[in-house]
Amino acid sequence: MKNSCSVQVDLDSFATLLHFYNYRLTDRELKELSIFYPLVISRFLDLFRRLDIKATFFVAGWDVEGNPEAAESIKLLSSQGHEVASHSYAHQYNFTCLNEKEIESDIQKNSNFIENITGLKPLGFKTPGCCSTAALFAIISRCGFLYDSSVAPSFIYEFWKRMRSISKHNEYRSGKSDFISLISPRIPYRVSRSIWRYKLAGLSPQIIEMPFSCLPFTRVPFYSNSLFMFGENAINRLCYSLLKRNHLIFFMHGIDLVDLYKDNVDIRLRAHPFVSMPLAKKIKHLEVFLQKAKGDFIFKRSDVLAREILNNNK
Ligand SMILES: [Zn+2]
Repeated sequence: MKNSCSVQVDLDSFATLLHFYNYRLTDRELKELSIFYPLVISRFLDLFRRLDIKATFFVAGWDVEGNPEAAESIKLLSSQGHEVASHSYAHQYNFTCLNEKEIESDIQKNSNFIENITGLKPLGFKTPGCCSTAALFAIISRCGFLYDSSVAPSFIYEFWKRMRSISKHNEYRSGKSDFISLISPRIPYRVSRSIWRYKLAGLSPQIIEMPFSCLPFTRVPFYSNSLFMFGENAINRLCYSLLKRNHLIFFMHGIDLVDLYKDNVDIRLRAHPFVSMPLAKKIKHLEVFLQKAKGDFIFKRSDVLAREILNNNK
């Protein structure tokens, strides 16, 4: 039987990304940057319609609040059969360093925000910057989520994140992650039956973890940038043949479908990987890859795959 592939898109707006690069923004700048959602969502809808794929989009409410066009595009995602999941409300990079009450209230706020737009409560959650702790599992289970996608099971990713954090303003520094994240499974699993149970102190959260896919042994993440970097060459063909053996969680970012020059994007984002690559070239890499993957995987939204895993593991 074929394995499943779930495409996840983190819709981090231009403003959120500028925070990542350590820029503080004025209200005027925030307003100017609000074109992000309608711009990228129309492109994703177009791409996924051509490929006949239903995907999962992670949304942070503050990116959308006060921007009716952005809210309209989220609504469109949902009405066209894509999943809208939660990426926290305020997209604070140090999310897992907040106290329990602050974390829970931010998560509830975003769930309500998304429900008000789509009419559906989000079933999936992902922390900003992919940070994960046992305490967080307990909270999101309590908040009624079906699955989480916050765990980054990769030493390389964690090291890169820590290094980037050193020179940042406190609020833009990465949150903490339990060490278990790094040695936890690379493929979707039931949290209460995984290595996490040693940290869960009697709690048994009914949550499925859907981590982004990493290569075996090296645990190097495989995602959109891997395609932009290596295209269809032998390295990617080898990675793909290794990843084909399990379910694949293929993650992307909203900015993947942005062209720095054509879209007249804030030049401070030129440091972002592949933002200067022509949009047509990026779309071609994605199309070639996803079209090929359609022959080997069954594509499912993350909530659909998580529910299947939960039911198969009763
Ligand atoms: Zn994010």
